[in-house]
Amino acid sequence: MSPEEMRWDLSQLVESTDPASIRRTLDSMVTEAEKVRERYYSKIGGLDAGGLLELLELNDSMTLRYGGVTLYCRLLYSANALDDTAKQLNDASRTAVMKRDQTLAFVDIEMGKLLAGRPSLVEDPALAEYRHYLERILRNVPHMLSDTEERLILAKDKNGVYAWQQLQSDWLSTRTYEIEVEGEVKTMPYGEIIGLYQSPDRDLRMRANQIVYEDLGRDEILWASAVRSICADHLQVCDIRKYPSPMTQSLIANDVDQETIDSLMSTIVKSTGLYQRYLRMKARMMGLEKLANWDIVAPLPDAPEMKYTWEESREEVVSAYSEFDEQLGDWVEEMFERRHIDGEVRKGKRSGAFCSSWLAGKSAYMLQSFTGTVGNVRTQAHELGHAVHAYLGSRAQKPSNYRIGSCIAECGSNFGELLLNERLLSKAKTKKERQAVLATLLDSFGMTCFQVSARVFFEQSMYDAIEEGGFLDGETVAGLWTAARDRIYGDAVDWLEEMRWEWTMKVHYYMPNRRFYNYPYVFAKLFVFALYRLYKEQGEAFAPKLKSLLSAGSSRSPWELGKELGFDIRTEEFWMKGMRQAEAFIDMLEETL
Ligand SMILES: [Zn+2]
Repeated sequence: MSPEEMRWDLSQLVESTDPASIRRTLDSMVTEAEKVRERYYSKIGGLDAGGLLELLELNDSMTLRYGGVTLYCRLLYSANALDDTAKQLNDASRTAVMKRDQTLAFVDIEMGKLLAGRPSLVEDPALAEYRHYLERILRNVPHMLSDTEERLILAKDKNGVYAWQQLQSDWLSTRTYEIEVEGEVKTMPYGEIIGLYQSPDRDLRMRANQIVYEDLGRDEILWASAVRSICADHLQVCDIRKYPSPMTQSLIANDVDQETIDSLMSTIVKSTGLYQRYLRMKARMMGLEKLANWDIVAPLPDAPEMKYTWEESREEVVSAYSEFDEQLGDWVEEMFERRHIDGEVRKGKRSGAFCSSWLAGKSAYMLQSFTGTVGNVRTQAHELGHAVHAYLGSRAQKPSNYRIGSCIAECGSNFGELLLNERLLSKAKTKKERQAVLATLLDSFGMTCFQVSARVFFEQSMYDAIEEGGFLDGETVAGLWTAARDRIYGDAVDWLEEMRWEWTMKVHYYMPNRRFYNYPYVFAKLFVFALYRLYKEQGEAFAPKLKSLLSAGSSRSPWELGKELGFDIRTEEFWMKGMRQAEAFIDMLEETL
């Protein structure tokens, strides 16, 4: 495999890669936004349907024209944060984007007021393509404040909730831990020691957990102060903005309703027995009487270690998609062929993996650090599912209809993982290989659906406690966490006493304006398991349905998208369909024992 092939070609995103030319394009992006402001500021309220259409189309054409250059700067920096040009261009791009957004912030506010006064515009045939986009703006209108109040909130947040969030993250990233590994005492930062949670050495996994959480618990005053302030601030904002519940803001952002999420969560509660059945089975496979918390996502003992070259991985992933649908397979192939994937391992490159849509190019760019593990192949299948979503959505939709909420955004990717899973299972030669494939799948399902649900219950319980007049000190928060956790795990797992501090390190609990960050992940996982079940029932007839779902972008709500597939996502019956697919995988694993 040549490294060239594993390095992406970003030159396609821009007319010229000359930094001076990039800067000129960024400048004209800001100038153009200023022209829009001159033309429309305080005039949107007077627009008719035709005038509104013109504004929306202008907005979309700017997104298409400048999406390439801002993506170029961001990706250049992700690929090498140590490069001076990349650093400068990324900074220039961020500044330009901020200026543009500030200049155009009035558009949504004025449009909201226009629609509140004339809601019939949403149904106007001239605006048909923008119907759902406008509906989403309208839904937010009752919670919008005056310009002065909005600016006041931004100002107080900067040194208030955002400062607490920053402190939590700075504190966590500067912790170091001493741990003995193979007879040698090592000092590790937080980011490194958590890698030991996946070690095949059981004792080492246990010690790593114990050392980390014992230390985190020592600073309980700090963590509790931060989480308490951020939660209380959120409740206050909910009151000011007239949100009926602490979850409303996130429901609007994710384009879903309370009934849907209630059905989803109660399906989880009713299915904890199924998850616990898997955990007990895993304990047997590990030769244990019961799992301890440091075993939940541990690899099975003597799981075969599979290695893949870049070419082999490409072959597996492309085939996984082609066997489902030829066009999807061709697009995944094109991602490799046009070098839209950066897989090379090198210094200065961003860790983890992601995939960014490139709407004007009707394509995407993906990054990962590929070392040849089966986990890397899975990641590739996952991220390329995001790419497929972008190929379909950018062909079918205007950019305004490609603001996909978190619930739907993970559908292509999760489905792609299941397609790869199917291929890995069909190629597994031994019982051990088959078990490893299924256990990895079920570990990830268990974490995403169940452990993440515990986080949803936990967050809700903090708001409930505050509203009932309780004071969230460290021990109280710890008690709320263990209660939420135990609702999921029952007595299927033994926990270290120190694990009551598990909430301290999760950045999600500390993110202002992104409250209830967690349930969309549960939604996406179970939604896709239900889709996969439908695929197994309908065979070939299903592929066009999945493609139409992904083509919809954000032009329809998740509820409407479910409806088109014959589902009602507001009912538990729908979510149980996903659970039955999980049960089928658990049965498959049991058959190998
Ligand atoms: Zn993803």
